[in-house]
Amino acid sequence: ATPAAVVTGTGAAARHGILIRDIETLQRAHRVRAVIFDKTGTLTQGRPSLDQWHGDAADLRLAAALQQGSEHPLARAMLAAVDETLPQPEDLKVHVGSGIEGRVAGHHLFVGNQALMQRAGVVLSGGITAPAGVTRVWMARDGELVGWADLADPLRPESAAAVAALRARHITSWLVSGDARAAVDHAAEQLGLDGAFAQVLPAGKVERVQQLQAQSAGLVAMVGDGVNDAPALAAADVGIAMGSGAEVAMETASITLMRPDPRLVVDAIDISAATWRTIR
Ligand code: ADP
Ligand code: MG
Repeated sequence: ATPAAVVTGTGAAARHGILIRDIETLQRAHRVRAVIFDKTGTLTQGRPSLDQWHGDAADLRLAAALQQGSEHPLARAMLAAVDETLPQPEDLKVHVGSGIEGRVAGHHLFVGNQALMQRAGVVLSGGITAPAGVTRVWMARDGELVGWADLADPLRPESAAAVAALRARHITSWLVSGDARAAVDHAAEQLGLDGAFAQVLPAGKVERVQQLQAQSAGLVAMVGDGVNDAPALAAADVGIAMGSGAEVAMETASITLMRPDPRLVVDAIDISAATWRTIR
C-alpha cells in the first residue's frame, strides 16, 4: 500500500463524513458482499413518536417515569409524551433488546416487547398484532397487563437509495432487529431488502453476522447505532457505526458515519475500491 493512496483515501472519506479507523478497514471495505443493517436509528430516524396509548393516563405516567432509566429511543418517545415532573424509578433493570423493569411509586413495572411480557408472567390477551409500521410496547404493572403504546419511527429518506445503490454493486442488504416481526417485515418490504430477521437479541445479531459470513462469497459489514449492536459490529468483517448513536457502538466499529445517512455506507465502499485500485 502506498502511504499516499491511503492518505488520499482516508482524506476523501473524511470529507464525506466517514471516519475510517485503520488501513486494514480501508482495504477491506470494498470486498464487502453483504451488509446487515440494524433498524431503529440506523434505517429509521430513531426518533419515534408516541402515536397512541391504549390505557389509563396514570399508567402512561408511570411507564414514562420508568423510562427515565433507559436511553432507548422508544423510552425517549414515551417520556416526551408526558410533560410533567415524574417520580424517580428505583431498582432499575434494563433488559437490552426487550425493554425495562423497575419500581415506580411502589409499583413493579415492566415496559417492553412481547418477550419481556412473557418474562413478567403476563399473558397478552389483546393488541398482539400492531398495525403495519408501528412498534408496539406493552406495560405490566404488578403482574397485570395495563396498557400498550404504539410508536412510529419513520424510515430515513435515504435508506431506500442506500439499499438500491448496494444492489447495483451486487451487494445484498439484510435487516436484523430486536423489534417485532410485523414492524421488521414492513420496513424490509418498503426497502426491498434481501432478508430480515426480527426479535433478535444482541447475541442473535452476532449469530446472523456469522451465518452470513459462512454463506456469502465476500465480506460482511454490520451497520448499527445501539448498545445492542456492539457485539455484532465487533463480529463483522467491517463494523460501521452511526455517529448519532451510542458511544459503545462507535468504539467497537472500525468505521463511523458522522452524518446519520446510510448512503455513506456505499460511499465508504466506493472510496475503499478507488483506494485499492490506486494501491495496486
Ligand atoms: P433494534 O434492534 O431495532 O435497534 P432494540 O434491540 O434496541 O431494537 O430493541 C428491541 C425491542 O425491544 C424494541 O423494538 C422494543 O420492543 C423493546 N425495547 C427495548 N428497549 C425498550 C425500552 N426502553 N422501552 C420499551 N421497549 C423497549
Ligand atoms: Mg438501533
